[in-house]
Amino acid sequence: MRALAAFLLALVAAPPATADESRYAELARQEARIAAVAYRLTTGSARWCPVAAPQPGWILSDLRRIDAKDRTAAADVYGAPDAPFVAAVAPGSAAERAGLARGMGIAAIDGKTVPVLGDGATVRIDAVIVMLNALAPAAAWTLTDSTGRTYRIDPAPGCASAFRVERDGVQAAANGQLVRLRLDLAQSIADDQELAAVAAHELAHNILRHRARLGGDRSARRVRQTELEADRLSVWLLADAGYEPAAAVRFWNRHKRPLIRAATHPPRSERIAAIEGEIAAMQAARAVDPVAMPAWATKPPPLE
Ligand SMILES: [Zn+2]
Repeated sequence: MRALAAFLLALVAAPPATADESRYAELARQEARIAAVAYRLTTGSARWCPVAAPQPGWILSDLRRIDAKDRTAAADVYGAPDAPFVAAVAPGSAAERAGLARGMGIAAIDGKTVPVLGDGATVRIDAVIVMLNALAPAAAWTLTDSTGRTYRIDPAPGCASAFRVERDGVQAAANGQLVRLRLDLAQSIADDQELAAVAAHELAHNILRHRARLGGDRSARRVRQTELEADRLSVWLLADAGYEPAAAVRFWNRHKRPLIRAATHPPRSERIAAIEGEIAAMQAARAVDPVAMPAWATKPPPLE
């Protein structure tokens, strides 16, 4: 009876969410999962990264990314102002310790106002990322929110890769500084360990500087090489962030569709074999040296 009474009371007390609000609440929920995974991977794998940056442990967003007709619903869900804002905070992160919370607008970093370079949907978020990447990776810094309050953020050095959840576009992509994951892909992966495996694969593309190394020659053979390199490095990144490397095998056994174009991507059987082989190689190497890093990953050979 008491449970029923509490349920009925909740129905009366909470105004029903609109369809738009439910949609953005789901986006915010997936952003929170990705924020947690990304924080663990980028900070846990910091020693693999060619470029380090402060990793507060957040996912940023901007109401400009959202269709004009939906902006009010999204602003209600996030509690966000018209500014780049914190869409999610990772548990245990520097951002959480500093008291940052979902919906907080970002006005300045280390006392410098975040510039608005045009009216593009992501220019204000991108400006924050550029400012963060220019800071000393292992130093404390300050954030000023949209109300003028200042927060001191503890040092949390990590890979200079930001993560973003998108509602359209490719399922997953990495451009060197940013990892993009599509909302429905995140929704289709119920297990956070498997979600970490996908995020680790994309982060591996950035660590291995695949976009730069591919340059203008994105032939199928070279792209396939980068895919297998990213699969192999993801095993080590997962282990160093405290995740199960075998989650990558589980993901590929379950996820039948390729993440991007099938023609340039290795078949699943090849990927699973590469990942299983790498797990065995890692276990052998780390039995001898618990912090071993393979030379092919720290000094990757030229793509052929
Ligand atoms: Zn890939």
